[in-house]
Amino acid sequence: MKILVPVKRVVDANVKVRVKADGSAVELANVKMAMNPFDEIAVEEAIRLKEAGKAEEIIVVSIGPQQAQETLRTALAMGADRAILVKTDEQTEPLGVAKVLKGVVEAEQPGLVILGKQAIDDDSNQTGQMLAALLGWAQGTFASKVVIDGDKAKVTREVDGGLQTVELKMPAIVTADLRLNQPRYASLPNIMKAKKKPLDEKSPADFGADVKPRLKVLKTEEPGGRKAGVKVKSVAELVDKLKNEAGVL
Ligand code: AMP
Repeated sequence: MKILVPVKRVVDANVKVRVKADGSAVELANVKMAMNPFDEIAVEEAIRLKEAGKAEEIIVVSIGPQQAQETLRTALAMGADRAILVKTDEQTEPLGVAKVLKGVVEAEQPGLVILGKQAIDDDSNQTGQMLAALLGWAQGTFASKVVIDGDKAKVTREVDGGLQTVELKMPAIVTADLRLNQPRYASLPNIMKAKKKPLDEKSPADFGADVKPRLKVLKTEEPGGRKAGVKVKSVAELVDKLKNEAGVL
């Protein structure tokens, strides 16, 4: 079985995001970029499945600018086998990405696609679900555990009330949540080896997909600062404030 893992290049999770002076978007010039953290978890899960003998090949794919190659190389250094860069300088949106991924799935025929549950730049949490809908495949989103048994995948999902386990008939879509695993760091020898692994370059048109933005950003602004808190002297005062000022009791 092949596993396909889509990985997105996003602003590094440790960087403080700033809004452009004209409020049109988030500042991306000279900002450290990295693989979306949930995609690292997705790559790790694919590697563990391969190590457990459940998969033979891991293909990573990124839709984005030339620099997304670096993100793919990171995934190759972690242990993926080959990479596809679907090059576009357009701002990618979940629907456009899902359309490209549908084309990649049709070309590569994976048994499983593992995505991140969301990209931390736009926080859309849509691509996996849209891809499942376009392909007509089963989906297990917010996965905290994945067990493959023959042509079935048992996925434990993190839902509001606790955990839900669903059984999917493969081929299927899984999206990775935070507790699925702890991704490994790529070792130096593996970073060197990754430079020689195959990386194909394609365009959205190669997959018959149109990635032109459909969404219009009206405004981007920083969240308002938090107001300073107050210290109360007694429980009675706290209860009084909750009742009469916050109105929550
Ligand atoms: P989103 O729906 O934008 O929150 O993204 C969910 C997941 O879809 C991410 O964690 C990635 O696995 C995948 N994804 C989204 N955008 C891209 C992209 N441009 N290239 C590759 N994978 C992507």
